[in-house]
Amino acid sequence: MQDVQVYDGLTLTQIRRRLHEIPEPGYEEFETQAQLLAWISTLPQDNIEVKTWRTGVLVMVRGTEAAGAGAEAGAGADVGTVGAGAGAGAEAGAGAGAEAGAGAGTVGAAGGAGFTIGYRTDIDGLPIVEETSYDFKSTHPGFMHACGHDMHMSIALGVLRHFAVHPPKQNLLMVFQPAEEGPGGAKPMLVSDEFNLWRPDMMLALHIAPEYPVGTIATREGLLFANTSELFIDLVGLGGHAAYPHRTRDMIVAGAHLITQLQSIVSRNVDPLDSAVVTIGKLTGGTKQNIIAETARLEGTIRTMSMTAMKAVKARIEALVKGIEVGFECKATIDYGANYTQVWNDSGLTQEFMEFVQGMGALDGLGERHQAQAEQKAEAQAIRQARGVTDTGGQLSVELVECGPAMTGEDFGDFLAKIPGFMFWLGVDTPYGLHHSKIEPNEGAIEVAVGLITRYIEWKCERGL
Ligand SMILES: [Zn+2]
Ligand SMILES: [Zn+2]
Repeated sequence: MQDVQVYDGLTLTQIRRRLHEIPEPGYEEFETQAQLLAWISTLPQDNIEVKTWRTGVLVMVRGTEAAGAGAEAGAGADVGTVGAGAGAGAEAGAGAGAEAGAGAGTVGAAGGAGFTIGYRTDIDGLPIVEETSYDFKSTHPGFMHACGHDMHMSIALGVLRHFAVHPPKQNLLMVFQPAEEGPGGAKPMLVSDEFNLWRPDMMLALHIAPEYPVGTIATREGLLFANTSELFIDLVGLGGHAAYPHRTRDMIVAGAHLITQLQSIVSRNVDPLDSAVVTIGKLTGGTKQNIIAETARLEGTIRTMSMTAMKAVKARIEALVKGIEVGFECKATIDYGANYTQVWNDSGLTQEFMEFVQGMGALDGLGERHQAQAEQKAEAQAIRQARGVTDTGGQLSVELVECGPAMTGEDFGDFLAKIPGFMFWLGVDTPYGLHHSKIEPNEGAIEVAVGLITRYIEWKCERGL
C-alpha cells in the first residue's frame, strides 16, 4: 500500500477506482449510495449527521463554534447544543480579544449564530461503453464514469473524512447529489425538506478539467458555464408507399427542412456579441427505404451565454416548428427535457477564493495557529513521502488560471441561482475530453483537491462569510 488509508483500509485512489467500477444513471445510483453510506459509517460519528435524499446523501459536519449547529437534530439534542453554544461563546470572546485588530466584522460573523458552508459532488455516471486501458473498468455494461464524478466523489470523501476527524469551526454540509447528467438533481434537491433543514449559506463545487495539468485550478467571476436545455422535436405526418408521395405527408422531408431552418437561429436571431449553440445531434425517422416516413424525431441541445438568448432561441424554435406544421401539414411537439441554469460565480466569494489559491504559501502562518491544520499538513506530507514526491514542506503547489466561460452545462448552476458560491475546474491532464469513452483522469489531482478544499474551508470558517 503506497498511501494513507482513509476509509476502511482504502486510500482515496482505491475508493475512486471502486466507484469507477459501479457507474449508475441519474436516480438509479443505488449501489453508489449504499457504498457511500457504508464508507461514511466508518467515520467518527460524534460530529456528523447523515441523511439520504432520493439516491443522494447529505452529511452535516457540525462546527465547533457554530451556535446553530445541530439545532435541527431534534429536541433530544438540545443539551448538547447548549453545551456547544456556550463553548462557542467563550472561544469567540477569546478570539475577538486576540484578533481585535484583524477586523471586528469578521470575528463578529464567526462568533454569531454561525454559518454553514456547502460542498457539493455529483455522483452519477453516463450511458457510455468504456474503452479505457483500466483494469478496474465499469462492471455495469453500457455505463461509465466518463465525466469524472468518481473523482469528484473520492475528493468529497477525502474532505469529509478530514472534517469528521478535525471538526471545522463552522458547519459544513457535504452534498452527494444524484442525476447531474440528467434529468437534474440540484433543482429538486433545493426544494426538498432534507436539504432545507441544513440549507447552507454558501456553496462550492469543482469539476475535473482534462485540458489542464494536475495542480491547476481554473475559474472566473460571473459566468463559468452556459445555460443549457435539451431539445426533442417530434413530427407526425402520414406514411405510405414511396411511389405515391401525393397521398402522404413525408416527415423525413419536413425534418430536413426544419434542421436547415434551425441553423438560422444563431446567425440571425442571437445578438452577435452574445453567444449560443443549437445542435441537433440525432435524427430518426421512417422504417424502410421504400416507405414514406410517417414520423421523425430530432434530438439536440441548446446552449446560451445569457438567459435572454435562451428565451430568444426557444421562441424562434417554436415559431419555426409552427411554420413546419403549416407548411408540411403535420403535428409537431417540442420537449425541452432537462434545463440547467448557468453557473454564475459570485463575484466576492470567487475573487476571495482566487486570491486564496494564489496565496496558498502565505497561509502557512494560519496552520501554525491551528492544530487541525498542522495535522493536515503532516498528513499531506506523509502522502507525499509515501509516493516519493519531493517534500514541499506541506505546501500545496497549485497554480491559478483565470479561464473563460464554457458552453458546457452543470446543474450546480441551479444551486448558485439561489445560494451564493462558486465552481472551479480541477486539472486532471488527460488527452480525452469529458464524456469520452477513453478518458483517464490523473488521480494525482485527488490529493491536490482535498488539500486545497480543506484548507480553504478552514480559512473561510476563520474569515467569516
Ligand atoms: Zn458530464
Ligand atoms: Zn460532470
